[in-house]
Amino acid sequence: MKVAEDVYQLKIPMRFNPLGYTFSYYLPASGTLIDTGVAGHDSFQALEKQLLESGAKITDVKNIIPTHFHGDHIGLLKQIRVRSESKVIAHTSAIEKQKEEQSLWKDLPRLTVEEIEAMGGGDITQLFSRLEYAGRTPTETIKVDEMVEDGKLLRLDGRSLRIYWTPGHAREHICLYDADHRILFSGDHVLPKITSHIAMHIWDEHDPLNDYLESLKKIRDLPVDIILPGHERIFTNLVERVEQLRSHHKNRCEEVKGAARDSWKTIYQVSSRIHWDSRPWPQMDFWTKRMAATEAYAHLVYLRNKGEISEEKRGKILYYHMV
Ligand SMILES: [Zn+2]
Repeated sequence: MKVAEDVYQLKIPMRFNPLGYTFSYYLPASGTLIDTGVAGHDSFQALEKQLLESGAKITDVKNIIPTHFHGDHIGLLKQIRVRSESKVIAHTSAIEKQKEEQSLWKDLPRLTVEEIEAMGGGDITQLFSRLEYAGRTPTETIKVDEMVEDGKLLRLDGRSLRIYWTPGHAREHICLYDADHRILFSGDHVLPKITSHIAMHIWDEHDPLNDYLESLKKIRDLPVDIILPGHERIFTNLVERVEQLRSHHKNRCEEVKGAARDSWKTIYQVSSRIHWDSRPWPQMDFWTKRMAATEAYAHLVYLRNKGEISEEKRGKILYYHMV
């Protein structure tokens, strides 16, 4: 579907994700594809078919720019590169992050068990620790051909895109801004309805929620007529949406503090005492709980760094108390 001059939106289905699809964007004049969609036969066919509707073939793709390196945004990258002479353009941090992931891979089962213990979810650890990594293989590193830094103006045929490095949802996340046409390609940084998943792990040294909130400030005041996101639908109210997201996290921080007001709590205890949009905590399965706990942890680390919550490690377990 043509959504702006020289911009086609490609709707790439993903079967096992409640979001239903990822949006890729194709810019015919420069043969540029922003995000690819998830790996798989159906998604590749959908990409190929919709590219044809824009008058292009896979072999016409010259540049692939992932907004970030999550599976639903880079899944088809290798398959496209087998057929086209395309180069991958990404933020410098994507290279570091891939290196980190490769070096962590061997230790990940152990780290996952340690993390669940540290979060206070130890009672269910034994049951799942052996199952999770059975049959999984490490992800292959994606070769980045052109690294871009924050603020760089990427000059493509027919269009210039300014790179905004927006860490938070993913360390390497970028938004792409076309000032001439007042278009923002927002990836998963700003979505019109849902809030992006912000996760913290015990082996991370960053403060992803703080990064995310700073990254929201970065793009808030860009003059835009249209925002082209990675999921859901196209939208126009950037300032309003950014403010909604900021107040969402502010409320969330209050909730987290409230959960650790009376006594020291583990991350799982905090998680069980706050509200979740998807379903109540007791009804979540093991992995949803873990995902929710990584999000609560991101808020706890943010509040700890702000001096609003205390952290204490007793044995293997982390505890939190409102200051
Ligand atoms: Zn996504």
